[in-house]
Amino acid sequence: KPVIVAIDGPSGTGKSSTSKAVAAQLGLSYLDTGAQYRAITWWMVTNGIDLEDPTAIAAVAGKPEIVSGTDPDKPTITVDGVDVAGPIRTQEVTSRVSAVSAVPEVRTLITELQRSIAAGAERGIVVEGRDIGTTVLPDADLKIFLTASPEARAARRSGELKGADVHATREALIKRDAADSSRKTSPLAKADDAVEVDTTELTLAQVIECVVTLVEE
Ligand code: C5P
Repeated sequence: KPVIVAIDGPSGTGKSSTSKAVAAQLGLSYLDTGAQYRAITWWMVTNGIDLEDPTAIAAVAGKPEIVSGTDPDKPTITVDGVDVAGPIRTQEVTSRVSAVSAVPEVRTLITELQRSIAAGAERGIVVEGRDIGTTVLPDADLKIFLTASPEARAARRSGELKGADVHATREALIKRDAADSSRKTSPLAKADDAVEVDTTELTLAQVIECVVTLVEE
């Protein structure tokens, strides 16, 4: 029986690195759902959609075709056939993604896409996001909720962004998490049956080992 692992939590907790490594180690597929929300946001920005207007976002939400490659060793993401792995990580997309992902029509479409990808994973899949354990895959075999102190999260993100200002990164992170946690549809939240792992004092290797052990139990 394919094993489904849901890994949720705010940004900067090591979700992506952990999820990819766990999937690779266990021979499972891997899905980065944040990349999908970033991809649809990139399409909206590129096409000049007014992101202050949820009705305008909802009206075109079904237009872009988003395709995710689920190999943990080389995950890919395309929009209408265009590789957007780089463009979805820009400051512009990052600062606007919460507004787009809060629109219910966007969430319905992306959630359907996520469920069909998970259902098609023959050996199973590690799915990382914000609402996987609560909404997308409530029957997952294992649910993990990763946390870390705001300082640790900002420091990790600044490291990834190669020397970006830690204080500015911290403010932007807190703002995005607040928006993701307060939206009406499927907010960032820990499922009642999720295992919470505080990564503040742990190395990446320790977090990976902890999750692999939980999957194998
Ligand atoms: O994980 P990442 O930082 O790439 O996620 C980008 C954004 O996508 C989040 O800030 C959130 O607004 C949205 N997201 C979401 N639900 C998910 C995954 C991501 O709303 N399952």
